[in-house]
Amino acid sequence: MEVDVLIVGLGPAGASVLYNLSKGSHTDISVLAIDQRENPGFPVQCAEFMPSPDEMNILMPDVSDSRTIFRFEDKYISQNTNQITFITPNGKWISTPFEGHSLKRGLWNNDLIKSSTKENIEVWNSTSAIKMKGQKVTLSFKKNQQIDVKAKIVVGADGVNSRIAQWSGLNETRTSYNFAIVKQHHMTNILDESYDPTNILMVFGEKYAPGAYGWVIPKGKHTANVGTGVRVPMLKKGMTISKALDQLLNSHPTIRKMLEGAKISETIGGAVPVGLPFKKTVNPVVNSLLIGDACCQVVSSVGGGIPPSIVAGKLAARSITNHIYNDEPLINYHRNWETQMLSMFKKAFFIRNFFDRISVGRDSRIQWYMNHLTSKDIDNVVHCHIPWKLSLASRFVRPLNQIIK
Ligand SMILES: Cc1cc2nc3c(=O)[nH]c(=O)nc-3n(C[C@H](O)[C@H](O)[C@H](O)COP(=O)(O)OP(=O)(O)OC[C@H]3O[C@@H](n4cnc5c(N)ncnc54)[C@H](O)[C@@H]3O)c2cc1C
Repeated sequence: MEVDVLIVGLGPAGASVLYNLSKGSHTDISVLAIDQRENPGFPVQCAEFMPSPDEMNILMPDVSDSRTIFRFEDKYISQNTNQITFITPNGKWISTPFEGHSLKRGLWNNDLIKSSTKENIEVWNSTSAIKMKGQKVTLSFKKNQQIDVKAKIVVGADGVNSRIAQWSGLNETRTSYNFAIVKQHHMTNILDESYDPTNILMVFGEKYAPGAYGWVIPKGKHTANVGTGVRVPMLKKGMTISKALDQLLNSHPTIRKMLEGAKISETIGGAVPVGLPFKKTVNPVVNSLLIGDACCQVVSSVGGGIPPSIVAGKLAARSITNHIYNDEPLINYHRNWETQMLSMFKKAFFIRNFFDRISVGRDSRIQWYMNHLTSKDIDNVVHCHIPWKLSLASRFVRPLNQIIK
């Protein structure tokens, strides 16, 4: 089988490429989009938080159409939120206004795929890419049947630990510092009056989220996604991701009280890349490109991957079309996403790195630094702007760490 474009993986990244290709004016690009899942988008392995278009405009100032591409129809929104609160290790709350919403991410992801109908577009579920040689990819589907697909362009949207990245020589070896292991419960029956469905909570502390943060992302008046992350190098002996989540639910003074009597309806887990994006996301020899988690296009300070996938999906579709019709180099995709997002990725990585350097396993240090943060500083941090205090302190972390025990 021969196609112009083969998209491997239909999470937010692959589905965005597919959707934008389907909405383009060219009708004769042939596309085969595959996902190993039976129903791409489900189960939802995500906390589903998405900043509002106005917040995205501040977060990604170089994305000119942020007010339109990040707008979600009401049917995809579970709950609107208007505040983010950091809970420090000693229980202090620092809040800042921040408009956003939790999504019905599975439905949105699924609808993106379903609405990408056009002549020459085929979507195959329950189909895995199992081998790649040059521009030929071997697919495996029902009952171990196999087919070779020759594609002019192969899009690797196959998530963290992407096999397309490995096969096409774009993978970068990364240490475990660059991944957060996460686990989350979807919780219902949250009746305590301290629960505010408009407030996103981010919880810090080595007992609950070593190297990362715990979260309560409201999904409704009495429901929320409650989860936490850990980074393996920061784990003390005996600590695991399951233990961290149990402790968040059962021993954190605020969260325990808030969730008393709540019920767990679903549990998911996964890995989130939290490094910088790959330096190369296009291989012009085999004409492959990477997008989304496959090349670490993630806001590493918070582990947010939906917005970058939306931006990169649009840019990838444009570059693919221009490559096929106007012979433009495919590498333009890489240049374009760097122009629109690299500066933001770098600032997020600076914040993530700073947090790593101050925490080094001690709540007392995180607490000391957080005691100096105001609501305005938190506002900057959640918008990937580096507050001057952070910039200054980053130069003195080593001596400060020796003083703050
Ligand atoms: C618990 C958790 C909470 C999160 N919370 C948020 C949040 O609140 N907000 C936010 O913005 N981001 C969040 N993220 C990050 C976000 O979910 C990811 O960055 C995003 O899903 C990346 O999209 P993707 O399409 O690149 O990868 P994925 O969503 O992982 O999709 C990859 C797809 O590729 C398919 N695939 C893989 N290998 C193959 C193969 N060989 N053949 C065929 N198909 C294949 C998979 O089945 C999958 O459908 C969270 C992540 C986790 C794990």
